[in-house]
Formats: sequence, structure tokens, C-alpha cells
Amino acid sequence: RPFTVGVTGGIGSGKTAVTNFFASKDITVVDADIAARVVVEPGKPALAGIAQRYGPDILVNDNLDRRKLRTIIFDDADERKWLERLLHPIIREQIVHELSSAESSYAVLVSPLMLETNQHELVDRVLVVDVPESIQIERTMARDQMTEEQTRQILNSQIQREQRVAKADDIVDNSGSLDQLHHSLEKLHQFYLSLA
Ligand code: ATP
Repeated sequence: RPFTVGVTGGIGSGKTAVTNFFASKDITVVDADIAARVVVEPGKPALAGIAQRYGPDILVNDNLDRRKLRTIIFDDADERKWLERLLHPIIREQIVHELSSAESSYAVLVSPLMLETNQHELVDRVLVVDVPESIQIERTMARDQMTEEQTRQILNSQIQREQRVAKADDIVDNSGSLDQLHHSLEKLHQFYLSLA
């Protein structure tokens, strides 16, 4: 696989804004959220495993009923553990497969829970998109029409800002304008090209 940069950050920090920039430079971007959906597509073994445990009602026309699955694992830590044990290794394999077919000078893996799920083991460098919590909340509420409480709930389920930043090799501050973000990313892009 090519030299790989892992991009992570909390909800609403600007991961998509950052990966859009790299994609505009023809850098292959692998998205862990998409990989997580691919592995439970109709006909995939992981989906069969889920249907075996929870019964055929977990499927709607061969597709996973995500809402139903979310309800099952919402307040059942054991089932959540079971599901994570099933899916995490398969998602990891899917990510490795996608990265191995990347043909750009380096590749990017974007994952909201990179550090929480140890996916940073799959990358050569971790780039954290960093903003103060107040901005995370403000931008997420504006984008998703969520209340402050809903936003804080998700934010609190993720690793804390200080811990995330402590694990970073590189940090990009996204508290300014998109122009300022692009300016910082241009320098990082040159740096990554030199490392790759
Ligand atoms: P999530 O993890 O929730 O998917 P994310 O980390 O991908 O979020 P983005 O979707 O990139 O975050 O950004 C969150 C919101 O903030 C979006 O509506 C985006 O357009 C906006 N945004 C991102 N960066 C900036 C910026 N520098 N200035 C103004 N708005 C921004």
C-alpha cells in the first residue's frame, strides 16, 4: 500500500472539508464509514452472521435494517461487543484492501473513530483536525439541525480533544475560514509528498 495519512477529528471538526482538499489533489481517500457499510451489503458474510444472531427480521429486502440493529445494541453492552467483535476485523480488512489498490502518491484514510478503534495502526501518520468544542457544536448544529444536547451526547461518546491531539503526528486547526484551512493543508500536502 502507498504511504498513508490517517485523518480523524471529532464530530463536525471538518474531516470532510479536509479530505475534499486531498481528493482535489488526486489523492485517494478511503472512508472508514463507507467501508463499514460495504461489509454489510446484501450477500456479504458479515450480514449473514448478523441475520443468524438476530433473525431474518433484521433484514428488509436483503438489506440490513440499521435502525433496528441500533435499537438492539443501544442499551445492551454485550450485544454491542458481539457486533464490534464481528465487524471490526472485517472493516479493517476492507480498509486494507481499499488502501492496497490506491494508486496516488500517498493515500488518506478518514475515520471519525480512528483512535477509538485502533485504525491508526493502519496508517503511517495521524493528522488530527482540531477545533474548540464550541465550534464543533455550532457547526454540527447548523449542518444537521440537531439540538445542542444531541450534539454534546455524540461529542461525549468520542475520545476527548486533549487525548486525540496527544496522539497526533500532525494537527490542522480548522477554527478559521476554509481559505485558511486550505492554506495549512497545502503545506501538509507538500510535506506528505516529500515523505511518500
Ligand atoms: P462529521 O464527523 O460529523 O461527519 P466532519 O468532521 O466531516 O463531520 P465537516 O462536515 O467537514 O465535518 O464540517 C462540519 C460542518 O462545518 C459542515 O457543514 C462544513 O461545511 C462546515 N465547515 C467545515 N469547515 C469549516 C470552516 N473552516 N469554516 C466554516 N464552516 C466550516
